[in-house]
Amino acid sequence: MARGKRLQITRNPTRAVRIGSFTIGAGHPIAVQSMTATRTCDIDATVKQIEALHAAGADCVRIAVDHPRDAAALAEIRDQTEANLAVDLQENYRLAEVVAPHVDKLRYNPGHLYHHQRDKPWQEKVRYLATVASEHDCALRVGVNCGSVDPAHQDQYPQDDPLRPMLASAWEHCQWLDQLGFTRYCVSLKDSDPQRVIDVNRRFAQQRPDVPLHLGVTEAGLPPEGIIKTRIALEQLISRGIGDTLRVSLTVSNDRKPEEIAAGRQILADIDHGRVRSVVDYGLQTLNIISCPSCSRVENNAFVNLAEQVRETTQYARDHALTIAVMGCRVNGPGETDDADLGLWCGPNHVNLKRGSQTLGHFSYDDILPRLKSELDLLISQQQRTK
Ligand code: SF4
Repeated sequence: MARGKRLQITRNPTRAVRIGSFTIGAGHPIAVQSMTATRTCDIDATVKQIEALHAAGADCVRIAVDHPRDAAALAEIRDQTEANLAVDLQENYRLAEVVAPHVDKLRYNPGHLYHHQRDKPWQEKVRYLATVASEHDCALRVGVNCGSVDPAHQDQYPQDDPLRPMLASAWEHCQWLDQLGFTRYCVSLKDSDPQRVIDVNRRFAQQRPDVPLHLGVTEAGLPPEGIIKTRIALEQLISRGIGDTLRVSLTVSNDRKPEEIAAGRQILADIDHGRVRSVVDYGLQTLNIISCPSCSRVENNAFVNLAEQVRETTQYARDHALTIAVMGCRVNGPGETDDADLGLWCGPNHVNLKRGSQTLGHFSYDDILPRLKSELDLLISQQQRTK
């Protein structure tokens, strides 16, 4: 395809889902979203970041709510911005009724619903969420994440198909929402590996071409690598008509968050004009560093700096096919580092180091890099011995 020529993309026939003042699906322009990384109860800082993202062209801004304190702050935040707002419900799904009056969309993760009220079937919890969403004019997102798949599906499928549990979870939630008569929802299936993001979304869309998809590569990491990983996945999906909204998740400091929107818009414009750089096989035999984009759950702001230092310190290992994951908090950090060769997740004063799913200990922010380096050296020498 000649560069600069507009691609003729036939989009999947997804249904329309309105989120505040915009609509996704049914051929509407692909929307670009981001998420705040400030403490949600710091109202001034959160409003400032929402406004910066809105000014950068965000169609919607997501806010994490873990605590009744965060939920209470939302009413004030709503009053101070015109932006379309979404809320990220984590374990505490029952906060939905407190936050829904102030936002346009609720995101829940099927893999987190079991944490509270363990005896209550997930179907009842989803019925509750759909009722709250209907009463308050909210859309829903069923957000499935590779690092926190519903445990009920984890052991049910052969290990050689790691996407199957994610798909099973997403499909059953769609089916149940449809049965409840609530169709104002979209789905996301995120992984930190772009190729898996491509595969899982293609498989989902084959079975449910009617459900709008929110695309993204989770923990894509620092720019420019994080943008490149996301671009690889989005080019492959959007050019096939898959995807109705997206987020580029980057590990950047709070003042640079609008770069996520700029990156998303640029990728869309490039795809639209045939300026694509695929096919890139991301299964490269090189060092892969993934890091989360940070959000209000980060407990020590040294996290972003640490992610940058990890990249610098490990440069010498760039020709080795190993994955290092750096995560900002204890909510998703422990689970989402399991698949990495070496994982770091950050607490308020310490950084926890893991090798695969095995915890090696916790270290101060000053001591973690030399310890990481010695573990990396060990892995490299083991790799070399087995060659
Ligand atoms: S790992 Fe924690 S800090 Fe990072 S984006 Fe996920 S929830 Fe937020």
